[in-house]
Amino acid sequence: MKIGIFGGTFNPPHLGHLAAARAAIDALELDRLYLVPAAIPPHKELPEGTPAPEHRLAMTAKLAGALLLPNVAEVSPMELERPGKSYTADTLEQLHKQIPGAELWLLIGRDMFLTLDQWYHAADVMAQAGICAFGRSVEDSQEDFAPYLEFLEESFPDAQVEIIDVPGLVDISSTRLRELLAKGEGAEYLHLSVYGYILMNRLYGTHADLKHLDIPELRACSYSMVLEKRVRHIRGTEEEAVRLARRWGADETMARRAGILHDCTKYLELEEQLELCEKYGVELDELEHQAVKLLHSKTGACIAKHVFGEPEEVYQAIFWHTTAKADMTTLEKILYVADYMEPNRTFEGVERLRELAYRDLDAALLLGVETTIQEMKDRRRPVHTNTLQAQTWLKEHGVTVER
Ligand code: ATP
Repeated sequence: MKIGIFGGTFNPPHLGHLAAARAAIDALELDRLYLVPAAIPPHKELPEGTPAPEHRLAMTAKLAGALLLPNVAEVSPMELERPGKSYTADTLEQLHKQIPGAELWLLIGRDMFLTLDQWYHAADVMAQAGICAFGRSVEDSQEDFAPYLEFLEESFPDAQVEIIDVPGLVDISSTRLRELLAKGEGAEYLHLSVYGYILMNRLYGTHADLKHLDIPELRACSYSMVLEKRVRHIRGTEEEAVRLARRWGADETMARRAGILHDCTKYLELEEQLELCEKYGVELDELEHQAVKLLHSKTGACIAKHVFGEPEEVYQAIFWHTTAKADMTTLEKILYVADYMEPNRTFEGVERLRELAYRDLDAALLLGVETTIQEMKDRRRPVHTNTLQAQTWLKEHGVTVER
């Protein structure tokens, strides 16, 4: 098992880290990569205003998620959990104990690489792991590594060193980024979900008014609340909702914002969902008390309204996007249908739903509702009363789906 270890303060983790991590996974053909935020870095002081360790851990986890390799790239809290200075020699020793026989590779940017001989127990570090070094800016050419590489080979003849290229290298440091963030800039150097996390937690001197976010900021916040794998679907729903709004004369901005936020509480546990319902006074029936899948639309609506200041129309659209109900507004229908058939959906029959959605929105809604009812029946699961009421209402109002 070939394991990469990418340590840093990750204060905050940025796109430079992401590009380097991706390049190392590919170049070394790693089976796993641990991103390891340092508790107390041996080589530099954590600046004043550094967020709490759990924030750095959460942001680094989001960066690991951004690689979309859930079984390969993950954050490790091992240094944050270990008391005292975060020496790499100790981290490597701990990993060798935890995963006997693993081949370890330490990922380091050029600045840190050039100090390697001075690290705590440097010889030990190089005995325990191969060194994978890379440039941090376009000026860091392969030749720039040569003199130090030569010196290392003489001083530590057994060291194994690989210098790799980082495609799409991003010339930024966390220090510079902190300065930019404090001025309300720098978003372009952050993965969106990390940026959203920073905004939502008001880190690094940011002070976004969550109730008046523009679209990119709203996306960032929404994405920061979900797993990376859901982002494609959310983006697809946003775009589909806007197209449908254009087609059916609904408010495009509201459709967009509803699409962006519709799944923001998707990954909360049942307990957390129930707490939010209690907090915002959402009454639940018996089925909803047990079915976590039914709750995210209600809690998502509450977050949209109470945290992000969305209007009642957006609240209602998100609230009903899973079960549907009788007598829906155009915006509610649009979000329901967009969520069902956005471009990333692939189930059998989706093409028909797509075609119908632009020809007869009510028929598309009925088709979606009936598809859900059938699916629940097939799985011997109860159908929510609101879904059955949606079906009845549509049929009573003359809506049909040609079979
Ligand atoms: P700071 O500015 O606070 O010193 P940093 O941007 O150097 O932070 P760290 O978390 O300390 O970030 O760095 C962790 C590792 O990532 C180091 O090995 C560093 O060389 C490397 N690294 C940092 N920025 C980049 C970048 N833009 N491209 C490639 N590697 C980078």
